[in-house]
Amino acid sequence: MPALVLKPGREKSLLRRHPWIFSGAVDRVDGNPAVGGTVDLLSSKGDFLARAACSPLSQIRARVWTFDPVEAVDADFFRRRIRQALTARSPLLLEEWLGVRSDAIRLVHAESDGLPGLIVDRYADTLVVQFLAAGAEYWRDTIADLLLELTGLQNIYERSDADVRELEGLPPRVGSLRGALHETRITIHENGLEFLVNIATGHKTGFYLDQRQNRLRVRQLAEGRQVLDCFCYTGGFTVNALAGKAKSVLSVDSSADALSLCHENVALNSSLITHPPSPACPERSRWVTRHSSLEGDVFQILRKFRDEGHQFDLIILDPPKFAPTAAQADKAARGYKDINLLAFKLLRPRGLLVTFSCSGGVDAALFQKIVASAALDAGVDAQIVEYLSQAPDHPVALNFPEGAYLKGLVCRKV
Ligand code: SAH
Repeated sequence: MPALVLKPGREKSLLRRHPWIFSGAVDRVDGNPAVGGTVDLLSSKGDFLARAACSPLSQIRARVWTFDPVEAVDADFFRRRIRQALTARSPLLLEEWLGVRSDAIRLVHAESDGLPGLIVDRYADTLVVQFLAAGAEYWRDTIADLLLELTGLQNIYERSDADVRELEGLPPRVGSLRGALHETRITIHENGLEFLVNIATGHKTGFYLDQRQNRLRVRQLAEGRQVLDCFCYTGGFTVNALAGKAKSVLSVDSSADALSLCHENVALNSSLITHPPSPACPERSRWVTRHSSLEGDVFQILRKFRDEGHQFDLIILDPPKFAPTAAQADKAARGYKDINLLAFKLLRPRGLLVTFSCSGGVDAALFQKIVASAALDAGVDAQIVEYLSQAPDHPVALNFPEGAYLKGLVCRKV
């Protein structure tokens, strides 16, 4: 077995069971490991520390498969690990986690499920996978076959086009991986609502599954409120706010494609609205007319609304990742502060701000500080009434704090 021998003292993170080894920790390479192939990680004294996938081009030089010296990394290993991830999402737990009528779920959450670089999302009867590191890529066919075996499903679509693949020296790859999928627009259910997901062109694997419970929360908070959904993407929060009987919802996004799907999703759910239909005012039109959208840059639109004196009762800010790593935290902080400050100004008294960051480089404490200084500079008194995070099918291994990326606050203007 080829091996990476670490510099003295650099075994500490592995002893705490953190699954990454950075290139600077490696003293020498014994043997000739394949890209993504399995290597032993040895201390400077030659002691076994872990068995890992080697990624010669990446700063993250190795990602641990197992800390057990007698566990081989082979098809059976992946069968056990995938089964474990599926069991952790057993039907019993699913109902509790996903709520009623949900059929879109993250089945494998990479490092936190002991499978570094592997994402598997289920959208109704289709699996969408991402191989994001050299090791996961190396075992691609084995993993694909096992996913079919263990889920009993037939179609796997690959979305290995995330930017992080570049850091691993891997080219993007998108397309059908198993089965013969003809339709890449899939209808899923989430907490009783329906959403169209484009698994070929949508963000990530198509939908932000990590926001599932937060969307439901917004549904519970929306009644009678004038809602502004910023960075609305395909309408996850918008549709929930409408379902929660918001007085009106304005959805803002810079992507015309996202907004178009947002409108489709609003229309798709028009019949699911709860009050009884009336012949004079059919449900469909009532539902749709409470909704409008605006294509453009949220930063500019919020400024314009401030200048024009617009007010809202519930504002959602769910921007894209401003800081993938801590190195961009400063710049990201300015972006977060800007939009949160403007949002506080646009809120009516007792209005709610539901604000998120999915930046790995901005931790929960920093995010709270940024939002606090935004309120201060806006001249607004506000309270945090709730802390939000990623859905439970996106677990965070305790030895892998990087897995906790989504943080949210519900703030109430006093
Ligand atoms: N809230 C969504 C996910 C938001 S993803 C959900 O729950 O599904 C972030 C969105 O922000 C994307 O749709 C992207 O098109 C949009 N976006 C990125 N930068 C933007 C900007 N400056 N102004 C408006 N929209 C932006």
